[in-house]
Amino acid sequence: MTVTEPVSGGARGAHEGILRRQSARESAARTYARALPIVPVRARGLTIEGADGRRYLDCLSGAGTLALGHNHPVVLDAIRKVLDSGAPLSVLDLATPVKDAFVTELFRTLPPGLADRARVQFCGPAGTDAVEAAFKLVRAATGRSGILAFTGAYHGMTTGALAASGGACDVRVARLPYPQDYRCPFGVGGPRGAELAARWTEYVLDDPKSGVPLPAGMILEPVQGEGGVIPAPDDWMRRMRQITAARSIPLIADEVQTGVGRTGTFWAVEHSGVTPDVMVLSKAIGGSLPLAVVVYRDDLDVWEPGAHAGTFRGNQLAMAAGAATLAHVRENGLAAHAARVGARMLSQLKALKGEFACVGDVRGRGLMIGVEVVDPERDGGTAPDGPGEALAAVPGPAAGPEGDPATPKAAPRGPRTPRPAAPERAAAVQRECLRRGLIVELGGRHASVVRLLPPLTISDEQATAVLDRLADAVAAVDRGVSPAQEARTPRG
Ligand code: PMP
Repeated sequence: MTVTEPVSGGARGAHEGILRRQSARESAARTYARALPIVPVRARGLTIEGADGRRYLDCLSGAGTLALGHNHPVVLDAIRKVLDSGAPLSVLDLATPVKDAFVTELFRTLPPGLADRARVQFCGPAGTDAVEAAFKLVRAATGRSGILAFTGAYHGMTTGALAASGGACDVRVARLPYPQDYRCPFGVGGPRGAELAARWTEYVLDDPKSGVPLPAGMILEPVQGEGGVIPAPDDWMRRMRQITAARSIPLIADEVQTGVGRTGTFWAVEHSGVTPDVMVLSKAIGGSLPLAVVVYRDDLDVWEPGAHAGTFRGNQLAMAAGAATLAHVRENGLAAHAARVGARMLSQLKALKGEFACVGDVRGRGLMIGVEVVDPERDGGTAPDGPGEALAAVPGPAAGPEGDPATPKAAPRGPRTPRPAAPERAAAVQRECLRRGLIVELGGRHASVVRLLPPLTISDEQATAVLDRLADAVAAVDRGVSPAQEARTPRG
């Protein structure tokens, strides 16, 4: 099924002209615009209409920003109310009724252990600003400098802005393994893989010769988004909380993408019951407009006045749109709705795995869903002997019978060696989706994970339409329709 609306020659010409001028004038660093050559002119809910008259189901949602979809009436009303009231639109960090209402609504949603003792800092308006602010905060609070982060993490793009301003910014980051089932670095996946990842973290912190001094903080995403939609197991989250608490290391939860109901709970840390010391929030909290904050426990509030500043900390339209979004998600149980619809989508997508060899893995939490595309013609090979044998001494799946370390030599070599990632094929799926009127994102370590981030307001019927189009696109790529076409399609 290809979605084609009647398109006038004039509309198509305008559409093509805009795209041509974009590619001539905008930076080579542009991203989404290359894979998604559309020119949105109108949008409502899940649907975007392009300048060429075509309509699309938007499962990119501004990279997860649009919790309520495009132009939700409660968001538009909130914005209009501010505009009609004559309130100032930009006020640095001055107090206003709009900001007061936003903070009240935000604090109402926070995990209980944090809500009672929370402080909020309005930083620059992007997620990356909140991350920088959080690092600066925990360094000031602990007097330490390094940060622990995880393989596959994505926290933003700013580097060195503080350094260039004379601020101390030589953040040393130590990378630790993030647990993942499908491409488990230890070759075992499941709870054993997560346990080994946790043990390595503990070991690195306690070994005085590990090369990693006691850090200022640990930052993690409860579900890695850009890293390929990888939900952290709840037990592992609790282990990270125990490990950091026992060593007085502030735990920073990056809920920029997972927040505001996206994963099936209001904040993704709620799945594990973990209370972080610091949360970095952006995307959906601005109700589609730019807004970011750092929320942290009051005892970390060691900053001097002006220690962290910025011009765009007072966007009243974003605060009003954000407060309306937070309240709407809370009052209408949209996190639970995301959990229900997301679970259904996930289970239907898992069926694709049996049907198409190029679908290597399907995973997600709530309405954060990923389909990893692999090369069906190449084998993943076997894991090298070394890790296989080393892991065989650890009770678990790699050691044969659960808990029987007496059979190490019986351990199958390379029990988890998935087929290689297939970024070209994933790009072909994305293109075939677009032809069928479905916008999806690509992510993951090898850009081979097709990502779905639909709005939390998606209905069952819309979810079915999304799944039909995606399945149809995968089938087309499986038949070999698209990769050949790829060579003919200029990107960007
Ligand atoms: N953290 C996470 C988890 C993100 O997904 C992103 C953006 N995708 C960021 C931080 C950075 O946000 P921004 O692009 O607004 O700087």
